[in-house]
Amino acid sequence: MSAVRTFPSGVHPHDEKSWTAGKAVQTILPKAGSEMVFPMSQHIGAPCEPLVAVGDKVLLGQKIGDSEKFVTSPVHSSVSGAVTAIRKAETPSGTSCQAVVIENDGQDQGVKPKDDKLQSLPDKAEILRRIREAGVVGLGGAGFPTHIKLSPPPEKKIDTLIVNAAECEPYLTTDHRVMLEMPDRMISGFKIILSLFPGAKGYIAIEINKPEAIEKITKLVEKESNIEVVSLKTKYPQGAEKQLIYACTHREVPSGGLPADIGCLVDNVDTVVAIQRAVLKERPLIRRIITVSGGAAANPGNYKVRIGMKYSDMMEAIGGFKSDPYKLISGGPMMGVALFTLDIPVIKTSSSLLCFTEEEGKLPEERNCIRCGKCVDHCPMRLMPLDLNQYVIHNEMDSFVANHGLDCIECGTCSYVCPAKRYLAQSIRTARKEMLARRK
Ligand code: SF4
Ligand code: SF4
Repeated sequence: MSAVRTFPSGVHPHDEKSWTAGKAVQTILPKAGSEMVFPMSQHIGAPCEPLVAVGDKVLLGQKIGDSEKFVTSPVHSSVSGAVTAIRKAETPSGTSCQAVVIENDGQDQGVKPKDDKLQSLPDKAEILRRIREAGVVGLGGAGFPTHIKLSPPPEKKIDTLIVNAAECEPYLTTDHRVMLEMPDRMISGFKIILSLFPGAKGYIAIEINKPEAIEKITKLVEKESNIEVVSLKTKYPQGAEKQLIYACTHREVPSGGLPADIGCLVDNVDTVVAIQRAVLKERPLIRRIITVSGGAAANPGNYKVRIGMKYSDMMEAIGGFKSDPYKLISGGPMMGVALFTLDIPVIKTSSSLLCFTEEEGKLPEERNCIRCGKCVDHCPMRLMPLDLNQYVIHNEMDSFVANHGLDCIECGTCSYVCPAKRYLAQSIRTARKEMLARRK
């Protein structure tokens, strides 16, 4: 095994993965008669327009939303049934948008999947078309349309492709399970991406708290001269794109730039599996693997869930709660979003539902800064979180931008290490969103 690699700064929160790391993925099916909700915006870019109307019958896998805009990604039904409404709906990311609502008939009538025993890959244009038509987006959280990411401008010479298998957020174990349970699909998907960039080197980057996954994947790629498994230190935020690229290549993404500016592209484990299904079977993205964890969940585990299924239905299907949850979080504890209801659907970028007891979820009171400098020492972007926090409090947004507030990756490390428990990341995140929205 090559030397363990990492990036400067960061933190070591307890990974809390033992709740679910050993739990194989179980499939949860939505009940006949249940209401499935499909937001038309589950990605970065233009929202889709519904392609169906109230009363229409739809098939499993049928495209129900799309847009003619360049940066977008279509949405598909994950069940067969009838469209009962087109209305505004909340999403787990804290936004709301138009959604197609379908009553599941429980029949799963759909388009027959294609055989995946292709003798040779289609050409580049057809690969990208299939990825777009399947609605594949970045499943690591960002939701950027994958067919766009894989089509960088010709002047960006891509020589490095990285599968992000760090899964550094505490509690989350879905990528870990995918690597153990479907490694062939992941590697096959990675080879498809590599075929788009002849001569590029491929890295599969895994934190060392997943030794079985490292061993398994290393064995499977030992004859692949252009693929290397990289062992990463278990450190947060090791899976953040810029930190991951640095660990693998020692290249730094410039301020305001993209990985493609330094010849790199990064895709998450489950995205690569979705690419394999899209290209070889022409299957749309209609399911997510979700980690359910935390002290209030009756049955912590990893669950394969249809996109559009409500969290409330998912929790009912897996035994609900063993105590009243004090806090519910969609995503990890460092970067996730607290939910005020479970009457919202699983979407493409959902990765987990954390069900915290009061002891696990209560935020301590914010106190005065003692100028200890810990937030500065640990910030992986080398920012000054205490100063950025003050600019936000005093509404000095020009200073916020001038001091690189927009370079914050919203990792939450500063809040985690702050002994005064100041709401650093929270304030910076809010200001960042506002400034980015103003620029649109
Ligand atoms: S870590 Fe907290 S207390 Fe220490 S300097 Fe930063 S904001 Fe102040
Ligand atoms: S300022 Fe941003 S990048 Fe730096 S530690 Fe805080 S949240 Fe992370």
